[in-house]
Amino acid sequence: MAEQDLYKVLGVAKDASQDEIKKAYRKLSKKYHPDLNHEPGAEDKFKAVNEAYETLGDPQKRAQYDQFGSTGGQQQGFGGGAGGFGGQDFGGFGGGGFEDIFSSFFGGAGGGGRRPNPTAPQQGRDLQYEMTLKFEDAIFGKKTNITYNREEQCETCHGSGAKPGTSPVTCSKCHGSGYIQVQTNTPLGRMMSQQVCDVCHGTGKEIKDKCATCGGSGHTEQSHSIKVTVPAGVEEGQQMRLQNQGEAGANGGPYGDLFIIFRVEPSDEFERDGATIYFKLPIDFVQAALGDEVAVKTVHGDVKLKIPAGTQTGTTFRLRGKGAPRLRGNGNGDERVTVSIQTPTKLNKGQKEALKTFAKASGKSVAGNGKSSLFDKLRGV
Ligand SMILES: [Zn+2]
Ligand SMILES: [Zn+2]
Repeated sequence: MAEQDLYKVLGVAKDASQDEIKKAYRKLSKKYHPDLNHEPGAEDKFKAVNEAYETLGDPQKRAQYDQFGSTGGQQQGFGGGAGGFGGQDFGGFGGGGFEDIFSSFFGGAGGGGRRPNPTAPQQGRDLQYEMTLKFEDAIFGKKTNITYNREEQCETCHGSGAKPGTSPVTCSKCHGSGYIQVQTNTPLGRMMSQQVCDVCHGTGKEIKDKCATCGGSGHTEQSHSIKVTVPAGVEEGQQMRLQNQGEAGANGGPYGDLFIIFRVEPSDEFERDGATIYFKLPIDFVQAALGDEVAVKTVHGDVKLKIPAGTQTGTTFRLRGKGAPRLRGNGNGDERVTVSIQTPTKLNKGQKEALKTFAKASGKSVAGNGKSSLFDKLRGV
C-alpha cells in the first residue's frame, strides 16, 4: 500500500487547527462509514481516515509525526535491515503503516496484510454428505431424498441476531470496522497492530437485545431435506456439488455448498473400473473344448455369448455397450467376460470311462489312481 500523507487523508492543511482536524475526521468517517457507504473502497478509506485521526487528533502524536515527516521515510529505514528497529518508538505512527511493513517483511505479497472485511457478506460453510449407493444404483443413477442438519438463517430475526423490533447498532468500540488498534511492546519497539474487535468479534455490529431463538448468532441448526438426483455412472469417491445446500452465510451472505461424496457398495458378481465392468464366467472343460453358446450376466440383463471351440481359461471376451454409462460421454462402456475353465470334482463311472477313452484317443495313458492325480494329469493334457 502506498504511504499516505495523513493530512491529505483528512483533507486538511499542515497547519490546520485541532478543531479543523476533528471536523474533517467527523465528516469523512461519516461519509465512508461501512454502514452508510457500500461503494468499493469506502471501507479502506474509512480505515485510513480513522488511522490518520488517531495520529493527527492527538497533539503529541501529531507533533511526533510532523517531526519525522511522512511514514514513507520510516519505511525505507526498515528495508535497510533490522538495525533500524532498535529502540525506536514507532507507537506514534498509524498502525496501518506498520502492518504493511510487517507483511512485506515477513514475505507477504506486495500490498498484502489485507484482512478479510469482517462486516462484508460471507458465504456459509460447505458441508459434506457421504451417500452409500448399491452397485446398480451407481450405474443407473437414482432419485432420492437426503436429510441432514445445517445452520440456517434464524427465522425469528432473519439472520440479524437482534430481538424482533430491534436492530444491531454500529459497534461502539471499533466504529463498525471490526478491528481495533492494539499497542504492544516488542524488543523492536512499541508496535501498533490490528486485532479483531473484542466487543463485536469482528462483525462491526453490537446487538443490545439478542434474539431469543438464536441467542444473537443469527443462525439456528435445522434439519434440512433435499432431493438428490444421483447421475448414472457415478463411481466410488466421486463428488457432486449442490449449490447453496451448505450452511447459512454471515452478514447476509449466501449459503455454502453441499458436497455429496459417493460410496459404492461392491457387487458379489461384478467388478467395475470406470465404465468397464468385469465378470468372471465359469465354463466346464467340455464347453471350452467343443465350443458353446452361453447366457452371460450383465447389469443390463443376460446376454448370449458364443464360446469358440478350444477356448483357454483366462480368455476374455468383450460385450460391447454392456458396461456402465460414461458420466461425461456417450453410451456405455463394455463388459469384459473372462472365462475360467472348471474341472469337475465328482465323476460318475460313465464320465470316468469317457475320459479314459478320451485320453486313449489322444494317445496318452492316464493312471487314474484317485481323484486329484487323475485331474492333475488331465489338466496337463
Ligand atoms: Zn435469531
Ligand atoms: Zn467492534
